[in-house]
Amino acid sequence: MWPFKTEPKITLEEYAAQQPVPPCGDSLGHYEWILQIGMSCPKCAKKKRNEQKEIDENRMAEKITNAVNKASNNYYKEKIAVLETGLESIIDLSHDKSTGPAVPDTLWEIRNLAITLLNNSRSVVNER
Ligand SMILES: [Zn+2]
Repeated sequence: MWPFKTEPKITLEEYAAQQPVPPCGDSLGHYEWILQIGMSCPKCAKKKRNEQKEIDENRMAEKITNAVNKASNNYYKEKIAVLETGLESIIDLSHDKSTGPAVPDTLWEIRNLAITLLNNSRSVVNER
């Protein structure tokens, strides 16, 4: 009887079947790269690179979206400010030239309309 017990040999296929399924899904190829070639699995490396690329692209897309939204918000804020200033001028002018409120005239109605528009604009802006 042989005194030395040799370690049981198993095939790559048997070894791969006992291991967790790798990210690439190719158990045999994956463990062949690691055990027999001695390098990390290129399929897994590529998968990881692609996932990182997608993360980077999403991050960049988010940055661009935020920059566009910020620029857009500033643009609309400026437009709204111009329009509200115009409404204030209409309110002031029609108030000065009107015979209202003692004797309401068309200018008084224009003044009230401009006040309503200005208040609506401000309440919409404040809701945001
Ligand atoms: Zn792999």
